[in-house]
Amino acid sequence: MQKTKINNLIWFRNDLRTIDNSVLSEATKNGGSVIGLYCFDPREFTTDKFGFKKTAKFRTKFLIETIQDLIIQLSKLNIDLLVFNDLPEHVIPQICETYNITDIYLQEEWTQEEVDIENAVKSKTGQISWHSFYNQFLYHPEDINFDISKTPQVFTVFRKKLEKYIEIRNGVVAEALPISNRIENNTTIPALSDLGFEDFKTHVNSAFPFKGGETEAQNRLNEYFFETKKLGFYKKTRNGLVGVDYSSKFSPWLANGSISVRTIYWKIKQFEKEHYKNQSTYWLIFELIWRDYFKYVSMKHGNQIFKLEGILNKHYDWSNNQNLVSKWINGETQDDFVNANMIEINETGWMSNRGRQNVASYFAKELQLDWRIGAAYFESMLMDYDVHSNYGNWMYVAGVGNDPRDRKFNTKLQAERYDANGKFRRLWLQVSLF
Ligand code: FAD
Repeated sequence: MQKTKINNLIWFRNDLRTIDNSVLSEATKNGGSVIGLYCFDPREFTTDKFGFKKTAKFRTKFLIETIQDLIIQLSKLNIDLLVFNDLPEHVIPQICETYNITDIYLQEEWTQEEVDIENAVKSKTGQISWHSFYNQFLYHPEDINFDISKTPQVFTVFRKKLEKYIEIRNGVVAEALPISNRIENNTTIPALSDLGFEDFKTHVNSAFPFKGGETEAQNRLNEYFFETKKLGFYKKTRNGLVGVDYSSKFSPWLANGSISVRTIYWKIKQFEKEHYKNQSTYWLIFELIWRDYFKYVSMKHGNQIFKLEGILNKHYDWSNNQNLVSKWINGETQDDFVNANMIEINETGWMSNRGRQNVASYFAKELQLDWRIGAAYFESMLMDYDVHSNYGNWMYVAGVGNDPRDRKFNTKLQAERYDANGKFRRLWLQVSLF
């Protein structure tokens, strides 16, 4: 009896890479043909309940560049990427029919919006085998030594449970397909204007002047680790505010999956072998464990991470005073350090970790505004928006998350400590302060 032909579809979401992509490597191992698909989902470019564009121009441009590069990288494996500016539940059932798709491969996601879309597609695509993989973790969820529902409430406990006991898996490789796998592909990537934006230039003072895509991510990795050896000073510089090199700047590529966290981990290990191991090389891994942590927190708590009372179920008297929200957004508060950081995000789609902690603390603890409005603004503006890291950090700073001490940042002291000479504030406020 003749075996039914296998036709695999990879539905790319936040795993936009070819290096160490479990979804891609499993799909190419399944036999038969492989086609890739990516949807610019129109819902991502609408306005949210607080009046912000869900995705503002910065991440949109970065995403377009990412897809441009993904097409090139996939073509080296003889795989085509079909790109649509349409809803997955409209497009995927049609593609399944046109190409007789038998199997769909995708990255495992668990947050509500992603699950809803996946279910909408599943309800319209008959007899298809679905294969989903955890593809975004340092510590693979199948390897950890506790039940996800028992994820510790405190980061240090989480880290100590894993760090010394759990091995990080090696990266995976995808085999190239024969040239006969290529298909005629007439789809095109939407332009910024198709998604509702005018083209724009990167701000000259941007601390993140990089482009989207796997190639840029790999270049940055090699530059930061091996060419300049900045990795070796990371712990000393990571609280910086000005310039390209105070921190790794990996987050925008990590967020849309154009680099894997395991690739970064194994390159740190390579650096430690070839050069030296110090507190800085360790500290970058430490920060990457934070990233994992918020993914585990969101898996454990589900939609609670989007609720005002957060995972602590704590009730405060929150305000939603529109005037105060606008002043915060526009960098017109009474605090010049907060203002400079807000102007930075507005002009560039980037803000340092130090800046984020301060502006978020000011929003939630000083102005006592509903923290979800601040989080939604970050979601719109940040080039590196990641649902788990964003809502996890906002809850943490707002006192409804994983901070056992519930601290408030003293933004004045923070400015004195981290911007003693006012360079950062001058850069964005364009006024002489002293
Ligand atoms: P580096 O200092 O070089 O760190 C390396 C990597 O470690 C980062 O790329 C990131 O993946 C991870 N990491 C570092 N700090 C954190 C942290 N606190 N939480 C989780 N992961 C971390 N990060 C995002 O990627 N997306 C977000 O949407 C996001 N929203 C945030 C909102 C608030 C209110 C705060 C306080 C922090 C937020 N962060 C977010 C975390 C952090 O600010 C950024 O990851 C970091 O500034 C990115 O710069 P980098 O890549 O140079 O970091």
